[in-house]
Amino acid sequence: MEASTKEESCDILVAGAGVAGLSFALHCADFYPQAKIVVLSKGSAEDSNSFYAQGGVAAVMDSNHDSFEDHIKDTLQAGDGLCDEAVVREIVEEGPSQMRQLMYWGLDFDANAKGLDLAREGGHSAHRVLHVKDHSGRSIVSVLLHRIEQHPNISLRYHQQADRLLIGKSGRCLGLRLRSSNGYQNLKASWTLLATGGAGQLYRYTSNPEVATGDGLALALKAGLELKKMAYIQFHPTVMINNGGRDFLLSEALRGFGAILRNDAEEDFMFKYHPSGSLATRDIVSRGIYAELASTPNRKVYLDLRHLDQEVLAHRFPTIVKELKKQGLNPELQMVPVAPAAHYFCGGIPSDVQGRTALEGLLVAGEVAYTGLHGANRLASNSLLEALVMAHKAALSLKDDMQVDPNQEELVNPEAPRHFPMVDTKLSYLQQLMFEKVGVIRDEEGLRAAQSEVDFILRQGVEREQSSLADLALENLLLVAKAVIQDSLEQDENHGVLFRSDRQSNPVL
Ligand SMILES: Cc1cc2nc3c(=O)[nH]c(=O)nc-3n(C[C@H](O)[C@H](O)[C@H](O)COP(=O)(O)OP(=O)(O)OC[C@H]3O[C@@H](n4cnc5c(N)ncnc54)[C@H](O)[C@@H]3O)c2cc1C
Repeated sequence: MEASTKEESCDILVAGAGVAGLSFALHCADFYPQAKIVVLSKGSAEDSNSFYAQGGVAAVMDSNHDSFEDHIKDTLQAGDGLCDEAVVREIVEEGPSQMRQLMYWGLDFDANAKGLDLAREGGHSAHRVLHVKDHSGRSIVSVLLHRIEQHPNISLRYHQQADRLLIGKSGRCLGLRLRSSNGYQNLKASWTLLATGGAGQLYRYTSNPEVATGDGLALALKAGLELKKMAYIQFHPTVMINNGGRDFLLSEALRGFGAILRNDAEEDFMFKYHPSGSLATRDIVSRGIYAELASTPNRKVYLDLRHLDQEVLAHRFPTIVKELKKQGLNPELQMVPVAPAAHYFCGGIPSDVQGRTALEGLLVAGEVAYTGLHGANRLASNSLLEALVMAHKAALSLKDDMQVDPNQEELVNPEAPRHFPMVDTKLSYLQQLMFEKVGVIRDEEGLRAAQSEVDFILRQGVEREQSSLADLALENLLLVAKAVIQDSLEQDENHGVLFRSDRQSNPVL
């Protein structure tokens, strides 16, 4: 189909240079010293959700004050009846050894005189979050990248975007088709891991960077795989809205530290909705803010840090204070405008506890996967844990299975990409539509309206041999939007982060 398609092959191909993809590649390089491994990132080293993670990783490291049973119980409670308990147990129990692995690779988690400085976050019954100040993700990614760059068998390639899974005539996944401004390249592989992260860019407000356009989810859909639990999108209640720039997460730990949500009249309004006020759980606070925004004339709420000790604040939250100042906000004098923003996709491509999918040859790990750990809501800091543990398990699972030659099989031709007229306008329209009709609070009428709009935009896409990267992002987001809407319509009950007001009237119960 495409005149400029080039071919190359490797043993193990990884799409995604976040915590899941990078740690998978390092494990594979350890387990299979002969294997040629290629890791692709759609952007630069900073373009991943992992890079922006602030709080840290949850794992049971202090058996005097914590236990696997308690971590399992907290995870199941957050997941509101929809977790797979056996998977929760496996992932939680492997947490400590993956934390030791990170430390072995060179990560210095914050420590105090007694040992690791374990933080406690919302929903956790014990201090169990390992962290590096408020830039845990950046520190973990830096350590992994440093090791990868020194490894002769791993080739890390930035600005390489996968646009289709390569499928052989037998139905096996044989690698990825890459798309760049210069054309296409088929990168064939014996094994392919999708670790492409989430899809926060589906929404007008999001804590996720621009690369989070649900590409892995869309690649799976285009290859005929089914996605699971797509209705369950966790919104973070306090994201600083930066019109024209990247929205910026204000960690939950700030409210634990004393920050208070206020409306335009400077009222501590969350007590109207819940006895825990600003300290209620993420989903309750997000719904409280939604209700407040609907009843305030200028539709704004703020996070107030003015009363806090500014010196301690700057020491404990250096990245956040720096970003506020960069945006021209003085936290001692001004309240910070915030809104609930799309933060984490609990659903994804279903996999077993070895990261294997329904498509032979294709593995998944991290936010793009649905393992059953999170159920209807993710417990804070459990996602980095899942990414690290599942990357290890997926790498291990290839042990007896490295003999496939991807060049022996003929490929099925992938369909042509689509071009959308006025692509940028359509993207911002889709993001606003999703925020209003498929956001924190949904109902059947809004979902059906969103469904027909999404179908309408999809129908306007025309097949073309060459279309832009913006077309690809829009096409992917539309496919993911369709799956989110469909799953939201199919759910009979509200659980966790999914709230349909036609199923239940009080949004903060
Ligand atoms: C602001 C913020 C704070 C967070 N804080 C925490 C926290 O404290 N603790 C916690 O546990 N979780 C936290 N999370 C969630 C957590 O960071 C993510 O769930 C996790 O990092 C996902 O890792 P990943 O490796 O699966 O994906 P990502 O880290 O998102 O990496 C995805 C990678 O895939 C690449 N990619 C995407 N599409 C393509 C394509 N088509 N072709 C090639 N490459 C592609 C991207 O460029 C990127 O390199 C936070 C998330 C955000 C956004």
